[in-house]
Amino acid sequence: MAAFTITLPSGKSWTPQYAASINEEKCIGCGRCFKVCGRDVLQLVGLTEDGERIGVSADPEDDDDEEYEKKVMTIANPENCVGCEACMKICPKKCYTHAAADAPLA
Ligand code: SF4
Ligand code: SF4
Repeated sequence: MAAFTITLPSGKSWTPQYAASINEEKCIGCGRCFKVCGRDVLQLVGLTEDGERIGVSADPEDDDDEEYEKKVMTIANPENCVGCEACMKICPKKCYTHAAADAPLA
């Protein structure tokens, strides 16, 4: 199936690449991607020793209770993503995988 593509006002075409996954092994929970995403797609969570996920602030300045082993970014609301790839471009650890969407059937 063909990828979903948009025609820009310039006449050029653009294929949005949507945030598909974040590598939690590589993620350092720095929050940079969260800051550049204006679409409420991402959420920072704390991973506990038992693998449980708990809500934490995305602001590194905030003093969370240290009840988790590490913080990782997650894709909480993928339906809000517009495929701009700003999150991938700013990520210092290359955690993101993006993918085009299928074009809707005519
Ligand atoms: S691709 Fe853009 S809209 Fe989607 S999660 Fe990344 S920054 Fe947000
Ligand atoms: S920018 Fe990369 S390393 Fe930082 S929180 Fe986002 S995914 Fe994790």
